[in-house]
Amino acid sequence: MTLSVGYAQSVITPSLERPVFLAGFGRNRRAASVHDDLYARALALRAHDVAVIVVAADLIGLARHEIQTIERVVQEQAPAAQLIVAATHTHHGPDTLGLWGPDAMTRGVDAHYVAQLQQTLATTALQAYQQLQPVSLRIASTQVTGIARNARNPAITDEELSCLQFVDVETRRPLATLLVYPCHPEVLWDDNPHISSDYLCSMRRTVEYSTGAPCMGMVGALGGMMTPAMPGNRFEDAERMGVILGEAALTALAETAPQNVDAIDYRRHLFATPLTNPLFQMAMQAGLLTGQLNADGSLTTEASLLSIGDAAIFFMPGEVLPQLGLAYKTTLRAAGARHAVLIGLANDELGYILPAEEFVYPDNPFEPGDHYEESMSVGVEIGSALTAALDALLHNHHAIRRIEHE
Ligand SMILES: [Zn+2]
Repeated sequence: MTLSVGYAQSVITPSLERPVFLAGFGRNRRAASVHDDLYARALALRAHDVAVIVVAADLIGLARHEIQTIERVVQEQAPAAQLIVAATHTHHGPDTLGLWGPDAMTRGVDAHYVAQLQQTLATTALQAYQQLQPVSLRIASTQVTGIARNARNPAITDEELSCLQFVDVETRRPLATLLVYPCHPEVLWDDNPHISSDYLCSMRRTVEYSTGAPCMGMVGALGGMMTPAMPGNRFEDAERMGVILGEAALTALAETAPQNVDAIDYRRHLFATPLTNPLFQMAMQAGLLTGQLNADGSLTTEASLLSIGDAAIFFMPGEVLPQLGLAYKTTLRAAGARHAVLIGLANDELGYILPAEEFVYPDNPFEPGDHYEESMSVGVEIGSALTAALDALLHNHHAIRRIEHE
């Protein structure tokens, strides 16, 4: 038996009949209109008894406990399937974490929207799972330079676009394309009040026009601080960036022959890491951030690894800085992967994930200066913990095949 893939998508744009607080820059940014719809795009993969559904959601991020709720619903209907929900981290969508409400003490999250969202994500994942059909796979990695920069440390950038395209086994007609690029979707800046997926919109559309098949976009190690380097912050700049990425993907994929994939491997690793950032502790006490800490003040999160064809895809629970991300790619290649793919904000959003040696908590986290990322990170230990998680996944220590929900 060979690899089968299914695809489905749903619009998750919030209704503007209720106030929508945009997430990602400052507080109290109210959405004025919808420029382009937000989506949940789901890709189900199955080979033999391994089944994984990857959902990309045009949102700032989702906390792990909420994704676990969705996975439970999915597994009621598809017990064999495991779920990955990764946010695209758009900064022009609704607050789904809680930090961007009207004032410092009020969540920006609309509970009614989130309840609907959870249902839609579960339904979309299951729809993808019902569409499974045998595929071959094209994988390409290509450098796309000049459109993104590292604002924290300009010397270290990751500009690799990872492309996976699933094609019909017989006709080789594309069925779905998955693109991953490590850059914040924030060409449009903090004065933009219109809902949008930023550069992802035209990136997906460019590929879809050319292939006649759906395209989903995800983000890699975009932390600290991979940001667009376009000439302006207008919609035409966001659109241009997406077109550049989409065309680069089409070119790279056109030069790549499809491979048959007989098996996939998927492993998850749960781990605990201390929550030491006083800002996050306060936000939890104030009820802005949700979730449960362990008795010792740590939080439990997860990372996972999908091996498919000659690619290894590492799913990471937040915004990994490129210096760590590049090291992870080297590790994956050393372990035998021809294509090393990183997907961030997957099954959790813990904020920035920095290398410990670079972590300096600012004296005043409200005025963090050059250490903004530290003020939006769970703490100094998360980088080493994630590195250890990748090691455990590669060497199969304490890795698990699936999470049993109570
Ligand atoms: Zn960010």
